[in-house]
Amino acid sequence: MTFHHSDFLTPEDVFSEFGGVNLVNGAQCQTAAQLDVINPATGAVIGHAAASDAAETDAAVAAAKAAQIGWARIPARERGKQVAAAARAVAAEAEIIAQVLARETGKAIRTECRGEVSVAADIVEFYGNLGSELKGQTVPYNPRMLTMTTREPLGVVAAIVPWNVPLVLFALKVGPALVAGNSVVVKASEEAPFATFLMADLMMRHLPAGVLNVINGTGTICGDALTRNPDVAKISFTGSEAVGETINRIGAERIIPVSLELGGKSPMIVCADADLDKAVAGAISGMRFTRQGQSCTAASRIYLHDSLHDAFMEKLGAALNGLRIGDPLDEATDVGTVINARQVATINRYIALAEETPGATVTRFGDLPQDAHLRPDLFLQPTLLQGLPDDHPCVMEEIFGPVAVIQRWSDYETVIAQANSTHYGLAASVWTQSLSTALDSTARLNAGYVQVNQNLTIQPNVSYGGFGRSGQGKEASLEAMVEHFTRSKTIVMS
Ligand code: NAD
Repeated sequence: MTFHHSDFLTPEDVFSEFGGVNLVNGAQCQTAAQLDVINPATGAVIGHAAASDAAETDAAVAAAKAAQIGWARIPARERGKQVAAAARAVAAEAEIIAQVLARETGKAIRTECRGEVSVAADIVEFYGNLGSELKGQTVPYNPRMLTMTTREPLGVVAAIVPWNVPLVLFALKVGPALVAGNSVVVKASEEAPFATFLMADLMMRHLPAGVLNVINGTGTICGDALTRNPDVAKISFTGSEAVGETINRIGAERIIPVSLELGGKSPMIVCADADLDKAVAGAISGMRFTRQGQSCTAASRIYLHDSLHDAFMEKLGAALNGLRIGDPLDEATDVGTVINARQVATINRYIALAEETPGATVTRFGDLPQDAHLRPDLFLQPTLLQGLPDDHPCVMEEIFGPVAVIQRWSDYETVIAQANSTHYGLAASVWTQSLSTALDSTARLNAGYVQVNQNLTIQPNVSYGGFGRSGQGKEASLEAMVEHFTRSKTIVMS
């Protein structure tokens, strides 16, 4: 590999090192245009990221195409070892990556960013250890013939990630794609590109040049050019429903596989026999309040059984009041900022709709920071909406902010129907001590990831992906690598 640079001592070194460049074929390529990257907590411009045009995007795909042939010839287990070494290089620099991530996303360093880096490195290492598992089958067809299937890579994978958990989503795509013998072009999020570039750069030191490439730019120019490039054999996208629909259409025209991880409006059903304290803690972690609710799996519709409604609300309110909202870099901070003013405006539009609804109540919790160095408008308080009709936009649509809807229920059949009433199907949780309720509800909930008495985030070895308009395909697990990053070839020998 030809790419060298100095060691990174501070986040500012990283912003400067990756200012206005793509990482293509193991080298930095300056782009003609650049985009400002803003620290949401302060409003300061922290750096200038690449704004790739179509030609600059195509150059990355060409490099990936050239490198993929040699990469696919390396035995899978050996590829895996290189990917695992790349993962360890990321883990070794976890603190600087987390510091960069906190500055570009506004997520709190202690509650969010360090954990994200460690999960991302863990996912890549998990896949690095799965090289030997890319197996085909032999088929008993005729004793004088050998009939078998092999799994082979697809070619160049385009991986497009959003800003909310950019490193974990990068890892879920890049890890399996590389181990399976594909090369990858990642389109970082223009809102938060630098931690992704740093993570990729650290990995590239352990990989052949051109196997992993990272570009940045706007969705409509760079992202669009990437999805339309004829040498891209597969698109793996995480982001909004609207963009997912556009990309799926392009994939259909080109007849290439497209994996989509899109939005959600995940229900959390709390039954009368639930462990109250556990369920309250689960509501806070499930709603990802520490990430300002900017999570696709956020438990944003909480259905409380009538019998525990008041006790639950009292405990939840007290816990939310205890969350400290403030400077993402302060170790005492639990909750940082929303990503940008546009997102705040969207969230506030939904809250205003609830406020205008007769019979509804809107309650905000906790204190906003008063520090002079912080930009006040991107901090929001955890907000609970109550008394809304079931078909209200706040109940049916993804808000992607620290806003949860609380609904009451008394009839089990009705609550299952309500839980299944949106067009999403990403995640769901049920809180009960009854095994029969757990078995029945998990079978009937229309979601790709259903949990009982917990609201945990992604585990590398457990497949994850949405139903309905939450997307198609799975991520995490061996299954996801085999099904979505390889193709099956049948070979018949007589
Ligand atoms: P977004 O769709 O606006 O952007 C995501 C990425 O797509 C960015 O890199 C963007 O530049 C790119 N993009 C935009 N337009 C494009 C186009 N026409 N062609 C190609 N690429 C394009 O999403 P966002 O606002 O960054 O992220 C928030 C959304 O992501 C939410 O809806 C959330 O639910 C979803 N999300 C889903 C999951 C999941 O696993 N299901 C995880 C995290 C986030």
